[in-house]
Amino acid sequence: MLSYRHAFHAGNHADVLKHLIEIELLNYLGQKDKPYWYIDTHAGAGAYSLTEGYATKNAEFESGIARLWQRDDLPEAVRNYVDVVKRMNPDGELKFYPGSPWCAADVMPASDKLRLFELHPSDAQILQQNFAGSGRRVQIQQANGFDGIKAVLPPPPRRALVLIDPPYEDKRDYQNVETALKEGLKRFATGVYAVWYPCLQRVEMKEMIPALKKLPAKNWLRAELHVQAPSADGFGMHGSGMFILNAPWTLPQTLNAVLPYLVQHLGQDAKASFVLETGGDL
Ligand code: SAM
Repeated sequence: MLSYRHAFHAGNHADVLKHLIEIELLNYLGQKDKPYWYIDTHAGAGAYSLTEGYATKNAEFESGIARLWQRDDLPEAVRNYVDVVKRMNPDGELKFYPGSPWCAADVMPASDKLRLFELHPSDAQILQQNFAGSGRRVQIQQANGFDGIKAVLPPPPRRALVLIDPPYEDKRDYQNVETALKEGLKRFATGVYAVWYPCLQRVEMKEMIPALKKLPAKNWLRAELHVQAPSADGFGMHGSGMFILNAPWTLPQTLNAVLPYLVQHLGQDAKASFVLETGGDL
């Protein structure tokens, strides 16, 4: 069952949180003059049009990137993210939105490598087209990313960010995330792992976070942006989160400045809020 297409959601508040943190993590890895890899288990199509096709259906980007696009008071980490989107739209009009692989390719040194997995045949094909001409820097497999990462861990430079961003339409994704992290840490204990998840009033969701906190990593960080109050009927997504293992020591401070700003500008009702917690050596 592969009904999910990320294009419907491109540039929404959840993409803002995810891509902003992804870029922050990659920039941190890039501070050392040593190679590193970016591994994306659920890569999507890589780039999205905001003026035609699926993204225009609900125009979710209007309550996400579009609210930040023109602002001149962005905290540094938000500005780094918006700059990536701006480089994709050099004529100054918001027409295209970068997916997670595009954000990575933009901020990483040209010599550092990307390993991308995408299972949906159409999105995998679009992803290939979007990275045509990237040579050996970008390798794309139309495959299950939960299985695929086993073959790329540990990566040769022994430094990497692994992004795990499943759709969670299949309830097994919650367990698959935990299993992938457990196996990933066994193969590559020092890797930086980032998991995106939706904030839902769902039992699987509530069980996943405590389980991830117990994984044998140096530290963990949980950042959530709630754009509205949870719905009274218990359905729907009121926000999203990123759970990071082996996070850089600078990340809590950065997010302390960023999350209140995102609540202020992406919040949709008076109950908009954020969560920032850490454990281990952070
Ligand atoms: N990471 C992308 C980004 O931020 O731009 C968005 C990814 S989207 C949330 C999830 C993607 O995972 C979809 O494109 C879907 O087709 C794909 N997918 C679903 N199950 C998968 C699996 N087991 N392995 C790899 N890709 C999968």
